[in-house]
Amino acid sequence: MDRRQVLSGAGLIATAGAGAVALGTLTATRQGSSSDACISGNSFAAPNIISGGRELKMVTTWPKNFPGLGFSAERLSQRIAEMTDGQLKIKVFAAGELVPPFESFDAVSTGAADIYHGAEYYWQGKSKAFNFFTTVPFGMTAVETQAWIYHRGGQELWDELSGSFNIKPFMAANSGNQMAGWFNREIHTIDDFKGLKMRMPGLGGEVLRRLGASAIAIPGGEIFSSLQTGAIDATEWVGPWNDLAFGFYKVAKYYYYPGFHEPGSQLACGINLDVWHSLSKSQQAIFAQACAAENDFSLAEFAAENTKALRTLINDHGVQLRRVPDAILTEIGKLSGQVVREIAEEDDITKRVFESFIAARESGLESGAINVEPYLQARHLPFNY
Ligand code: CA
Repeated sequence: MDRRQVLSGAGLIATAGAGAVALGTLTATRQGSSSDACISGNSFAAPNIISGGRELKMVTTWPKNFPGLGFSAERLSQRIAEMTDGQLKIKVFAAGELVPPFESFDAVSTGAADIYHGAEYYWQGKSKAFNFFTTVPFGMTAVETQAWIYHRGGQELWDELSGSFNIKPFMAANSGNQMAGWFNREIHTIDDFKGLKMRMPGLGGEVLRRLGASAIAIPGGEIFSSLQTGAIDATEWVGPWNDLAFGFYKVAKYYYYPGFHEPGSQLACGINLDVWHSLSKSQQAIFAQACAAENDFSLAEFAAENTKALRTLINDHGVQLRRVPDAILTEIGKLSGQVVREIAEEDDITKRVFESFIAARESGLESGAINVEPYLQARHLPFNY
């Protein structure tokens, strides 16, 4: 590992899913990682600052230096400063530094902050439609989501939805497929979910409830102790990279996959519309392309880091990997569809987002079955390579 995470257990606060939100208790040191080199040579180069530049405030739902998603916000700021020769600088505030994490959306909507970096499903209290722009149970993979947003009308609907709150949204990071989570006992049949107490927020949690489980949306910082004391029997978090940092392997033995509830969590950047319109055409283009670059970069970072972390979990910590049986996934898939279709009835925009999302998902299923899945399976055929 070329970076070390130092995590102090207490103090992490609420999260609705993809990322932790902490108050400065999690620090990470980066030691010349290869990901730095991909951006600007050997390290983050200091931008060439020209006097008179403009500084915008970015609030985030991530703790300072949070691996993965927190890095994305910092890299976005760095890229934009470099590409504008310092004419457009973005000061990044970790969760709670300027506003509480879940008030980031309102802060940008009202202009108290200029930009947020977070997960759209955190704003589902504004409209259930926001769920679709992060992820829904048995939804789309990262690439399928990009296909929807870029090429199948997703961005236009997202602009309409967020625009009604005076915000312009962009894709700006993606965690890729998450894991189903950590269990302190094995899961064999659907009946094993009855009475199971599992930490799983959002729509995935609603699916679990319909299986007879107690889905609990406890704050990130309480997960470890809750597993330890038996207050919960299982938890989802993100994937090997982030889950290793939280140390769940110390209190739960079985690590299940695939993460049906978050198959490719899309993270987002939202900029106040008045601020957006005040940017020059070139600054707008730079901002949009910097977001797109970070979206790609972060997905690759998660893929690389998850592989390393998974090996560490298995080889160094004796974690037992388990696949969720197909019979259980089939039932979960059915219930996921029910939950997603129910929220589509909430209002007009959610209905239209749902319909567009479903069409894109069908398209992904259709082409994926021919030119993606067979190849991925074929790589596991018994040949020497
Ligand atoms: Ca998650």
